[in-house]
Amino acid sequence: MTSPRDFEGVPRIGLGTDLHRLTPGRTCILGGIVFDECPVGPDGHSDGDAVLHAVTDALLGAAGLDDLGTLFPDDQESNRDRPSADFVAEACRRLQLARLAPLSIDIAIQCDRPKIAPRRAEIRAAIAKLVALPIDRVNVKGKTFEGVRATDSEVVSVVAVVLVG
Ligand code: MG
Repeated sequence: MTSPRDFEGVPRIGLGTDLHRLTPGRTCILGGIVFDECPVGPDGHSDGDAVLHAVTDALLGAAGLDDLGTLFPDDQESNRDRPSADFVAEACRRLQLARLAPLSIDIAIQCDRPKIAPRRAEIRAAIAKLVALPIDRVNVKGKTFEGVRATDSEVVSVVAVVLVG
């Protein structure tokens, strides 16, 4: 049998996904960046930032820790309209306690609006700052649904993978 000690110093991968309904009247915040011009925004108990939720779950998952929903229940009043940057900060704090740190992050954001491409650099910079990584270790790509919609709702869907070591 392999001893756990054999994995000392070997990076671990984490996966996080999230999906939020996009609704009129909500501030559109994704990856910590506000899209002022977008008439719809991610619904949610917190600020709804699905990108930071996916990143948080990826960080926690890589470290084998609790997930976002367990740490920050969406029925808790203190989490209402809470900035999702808080969730990333708490995940990083818990990683640090486990003597771990993010090494790289890759994120795919799927939505028909807002357009992600023109704001990619800003999102990368915002997330890099949150997790204390150089910008070239945080990647973001935007994808559309190509006109295909499975439900009546407009949504944003995010997948994030994080390497931690
Ligand atoms: Mg979420």
